[in-house]
Parts: sequence; structure tokens; C-alpha cells
Amino acid sequence: TQAFLSRIRQHQDLNAFITVSEQSALQQAQAADQILATGNAEPLTGIPIAQKDIFCTLGTKTSCGSKMLDNFIAPYDATVVNNFNRAGAVMLGKLNMDEFAMGSSNENSFYGPVRNPWATDCVPGGSSGGSAAAVAARLAPAVTGTDTGGSIRQPAALCGITGLKPTYGRVSRYGMIAYASSLDQGGPMTRSAEDAALLLQTMAGFDPKDSTSVDQALQDYSASLNDSLQGLKIGLPKQFFNTALDSQMAATIQAAIAEYQKLGAEVIEVDMPNLELAIPAYYVIASAECSSNLSRYDGVRFGYRCQNPADLTDLYTRSRGEAFGAEVKRRILMGAYALSAGYYDAYYLKAQQVRRLISEDFKRALSEVDVLMGPVTPSTAFRIGEKTSDPIQMYLEDIYTIAINLAGLPAMSIPAGFIDGKPVGLHVIGNYFSEAKLLNVGHRYQ
Ligand code: GLN
Repeated sequence: TQAFLSRIRQHQDLNAFITVSEQSALQQAQAADQILATGNAEPLTGIPIAQKDIFCTLGTKTSCGSKMLDNFIAPYDATVVNNFNRAGAVMLGKLNMDEFAMGSSNENSFYGPVRNPWATDCVPGGSSGGSAAAVAARLAPAVTGTDTGGSIRQPAALCGITGLKPTYGRVSRYGMIAYASSLDQGGPMTRSAEDAALLLQTMAGFDPKDSTSVDQALQDYSASLNDSLQGLKIGLPKQFFNTALDSQMAATIQAAIAEYQKLGAEVIEVDMPNLELAIPAYYVIASAECSSNLSRYDGVRFGYRCQNPADLTDLYTRSRGEAFGAEVKRRILMGAYALSAGYYDAYYLKAQQVRRLISEDFKRALSEVDVLMGPVTPSTAFRIGEKTSDPIQMYLEDIYTIAINLAGLPAMSIPAGFIDGKPVGLHVIGNYFSEAKLLNVGHRYQ
């Protein structure tokens, strides 16, 4: 814990942390030392981790990357945080992120952008950018992230680490600040699939406090890491390998897939005709849900409140106007519009229908193969500021990840090589609750 705290101090320029919990981390580490001395240690006893600042932590600020929650200290721990505490892990602090998890570059954080440790003039990806940078720079051995449309996998890919987005409902959302509730899912971000298995074992499980949590027994995620991949059927969605993909990216991904063929896997092309509709459908659904979820920040109950409001309407409008950033406001406007009476059928209902078509595409493909593979991102890490003026360009960052959230499937990014010194991620997508298989596939490659 001391070693990691000192590395965090040395690398403050990366801006990976919003809060460093030095005192409480050292106390937790001491308590863990006592448990270790009794010989009753669990796998994570005394292991320092850090939480994305979207998970509520009792007694430590939970900002969600927003000025709105800059003064917010949650009165309870998220289930995920509670699970780590029970497992004896040490929490080093809270990680930087795009405001309310909206973004793909961590440039939407109230606390400023995070730098990619591999190329410090580049973004680490987002929204879990602080998480990915912290693991890549060895400021923490393992951390949490959340993925609504790609926010675990895309930063994991751009920072050369492993990131797993579990099946929707596998990890409790209780105490995880809501962005788009039907898509949000927490998961581990680590150096290896082996570490991801240990973290997932602690994070996942049924939680009666989350109505969408799935009451299904956990697998032993570490047990099958070394299973043979002989005969594994890998599907390559042809829509993933079209002209939008940079040619060097395509070559790196193909080389990674060839390694699996050497391990005995068989490769089959699959057709997923509705994938191209994922981005428009997602931005309608996610914005609609966020416009509803973010209505709770009203300046009354908690969070930011404007100075000297003239009346209640002034209190609402100025508190929200002053504390939300531009991207959050854009999403709320889009969402409120899509849900409004005259446009509901044309946008929201239509997007839900498209969501179903996309799920059907995956269902069909995954009935023929064990996993799907492809790129995580269209290119490697881009420069800070390069895409900030063009939201559509930024939304296209998630072109390969977003459909998976619409279908609720598990997926993983594993390090697959470098282009010009910048990391590339390989995307591995599996059927519902196939996390153990994904981890096995990730582990055998590494
Ligand atoms: N980039 C996507 C968005 O801005 C996904 C973010 C996420 O997964 N939290 O909505």
C-alpha cells in the first residue's frame, strides 16, 4: 500500500485520481496485516485497489467526475465497495472519470483530463480513464470501472490493460451512480485476465438491493483459466472488419486471432446486419435514461446548490446550469426531446425496437460460435483535444463496443499489441454469463 501511495504521488501529472485516501488506506492495510498474520487470508486480503469515482464510498467523496457532486459524501457504501471491504482489500482512493460516465476520452471530467501513460499527450479513453491509466502506470494493481457503452473496454484497450464488462445484472448497481440504468454495468480493470477473475469473484453476485441483479450462482472464475482452447469456435462479425477500421488496427487484430488458431481455435465469419444501428439507438436510449436519472440533482437534497436563489425555479435552473458540464447538458436535452410526447414513438420506441434487432443478431451469431472477436476501438489513443469539438466523432469511438451493452452481453478487452508505441485491444464477446469462458480465452493469450 505504501509503495502504491508513493507511486501515486510521483505520477500526479497523469491526473488519474480524484481522491487519494492515504490515511484510511494505511489503516486498512494494517488491519489486513493482522489478518494475514493469523493465516486466514482471502485472495484479496491486503491487496490495494482503487474505485472509479462513480461507486459510493462511505466517508470519502464520491464526485462522479462532476462539479454537481464535488461536495458529496455518500451516506453508504456501494455493494461493490462493500464486497471489496469484506474481502479485506485496501482502497487507495477514487479514480478520475468523465462526468457522470458520459464520454470516451476522460476530457469531460470536472477535475480535468487524464493522461495516457503510454503517450502523455494522448487520452486514456473514457469514461473509466482514470481507472485505465492507474493500472497501466502501476498506480494500483487492479481497479474497478463501469461500462454503459464501452467505458471499461475502450480505455482498457487504449491503455493496454485487461477490462471485463460482465453480463448485465451480474454485478450489483446498488450505490453505483446511475447514468443509463438498463445499460450500466461495473467490472474489473486489471493487468491480466487472472487478476480480473479474482476481482470479478469479489465484485459479482446477487444483490437484493438491485432489482436487476440476477439471482444465479457465481462460477469459480479462476478454475477454468487454463482450459484448452482446442476446437473453440471464434466468430468474426464481418461488420467489424469493414473499411472504417484502420488498416494497421485490422492487421494487429488479425494477428491476435491467428494466435488463437495456433491454440486450436476455428474461425468463422458471421453476419450481424443490424450492428450499424447501434450508435444511433444507444444515444437515444442512454440519453433518455440519463435525462430521467439526472433529474434528482435539483440543488435541494444533495450536491451543488447555487448562491442566493430568487425562488424554487431559479434554484433548480441555476444549480443545474452552473454544475453540469456541456456534454451532460447535451445528453439531458437529447433525452428529454426523445421522450417528449410528440416524439416518443419516432425515437425512443424505435430505438428500443432496434435494440431488440441487435440482440437477435447476437443471439443468432452466438448460437453458431463460442465467442466473437474483433477490435475494441477504431484507432489507438488520440491526442487530448483532438475530438472535443466534434461530439459525433467522439460518439464513433464506441462503434465496436456499444452494441454489446444494448444486448446486455459480457465482453472483454485484452492487450493485443502496439501500433507506434500505443496499445491495441482485442475484443472478446461471449454469451450471457460466459465470463469464465472469456477469462479463459483472455488468459490463454497472455
Ligand atoms: N462513450 C459512451 C457514452 O458517452 C459510453 C460511456 C460509458 O460506457 N459510460 O455514453
